[in-house]
Amino acid sequence: METLLPGSTGPDVKLVQSLLNKIGYNAGPIDGVFGPSTQQAVIAFQRDNNLLPDGIVGPATWSIFERLLRGYDVYTIRRGDTLYNISRRYYTTVNAILTANPGINPLALAIGQQIIVPYGIDVVFTDIDYTYEILELQIQGLRARYPFLETGTIGTSVMGKNLYYIRLGRGAHEVSYNGAHHANEWITTPVLMKFIENYAKAYSTRGNIRGYNITNIFNSSSIYIIPMVNPDGVDLVTRWPNYTNPTYQNAARLNTSGLPLPRVWKANIRGVDLNLNYPAAWEEEKLLELEMGITSPAPRDYGGEAPLSEPESIAMYNFTRSHNFRLVIAYHTQGEVIYWDFMNLAPPESQTIANIFAQASGYTPIGIAGEAAYAGYKDWFIQDFRRPGFTIEVGRGVNPLPITQFDSIYARNEEIMLLGAVV
Ligand SMILES: [Zn+2]
Repeated sequence: METLLPGSTGPDVKLVQSLLNKIGYNAGPIDGVFGPSTQQAVIAFQRDNNLLPDGIVGPATWSIFERLLRGYDVYTIRRGDTLYNISRRYYTTVNAILTANPGINPLALAIGQQIIVPYGIDVVFTDIDYTYEILELQIQGLRARYPFLETGTIGTSVMGKNLYYIRLGRGAHEVSYNGAHHANEWITTPVLMKFIENYAKAYSTRGNIRGYNITNIFNSSSIYIIPMVNPDGVDLVTRWPNYTNPTYQNAARLNTSGLPLPRVWKANIRGVDLNLNYPAAWEEEKLLELEMGITSPAPRDYGGEAPLSEPESIAMYNFTRSHNFRLVIAYHTQGEVIYWDFMNLAPPESQTIANIFAQASGYTPIGIAGEAAYAGYKDWFIQDFRRPGFTIEVGRGVNPLPITQFDSIYARNEEIMLLGAVV
């Protein structure tokens, strides 16, 4: 993470402000501007943690922040420790410690033994802008807290960022959800990440979510989630206009719209709209592009030189083909609708399931057309597998939707994500 000091702006400042507020330091509103109240909160935090209280978030302060953001500490057992005492000290629960340390015997703790102790705060923040680094910290944190989660990568982006997946459950019934094909629709990433956290938490406590028995779903289904298909694009949008890497600066020059980049940028870092890059009537899509006068890389609507020309779409294609997904959901943001068909190729149950999702969310099911009528991920899935594939547009308004919409969007989608594993 880069050094932050008074005057700094951007998603990392929001992250620090959100963290400080959560742990009892008043950093002021989460506005992404490192002003006096944020500085005072940083100084107070530094004093409490035996750091030089200079009000600057440099490497030493970041290393403690990052540990808090991952949400756990590695604790060395001392004489007289019990899990109960440790849990009190960390504002967490004995169950959370037992979950993070499978096989540990609470009655036979060995002095010098190292254990993972989760903090009392959630890992997935829902009041900040997302970046690839934030996603990565959260995945590390969730993996440590919930070792029953399988995590891995399906490939890498143009710039070499990992395309992460997280698997919920170990059942034979496989489904897959993805977010942030489109860069300025990154709010779909925390929707999926918060679902992962809530699901893992419910599983670890044998709990329910909205009346669904998570242990049963965990044992019967595997939900594969790719929370950020387009991490380069997401960072281009959320770090705008403060770029240190020339790759971002060069990409940003493709925005000749006169509008702020976050308003218009959906593509990957090479200016290819990933949701127009799948082999599903891609040639028809090209004709539409030509009619619009789009013939080269652009912030949106350019489908590439050929289907699957981009590492991100190739990774999704290969990952999907290497599984036996009964159903897929691609999350987008504009319209509050559920697209369930592609060229009349969807199986009959697609409409039925779309109606069930609609009932759970209030979104409107739509058969044909709309955003990305051709060459999208769900189009290709329906075409090649003749199984239910959905594009769900979770909100309405100007992209990127502000994170203040998170709670209402999440509330409308949580049951869809549970239903997807059982319908
Ligand atoms: Zn979209």
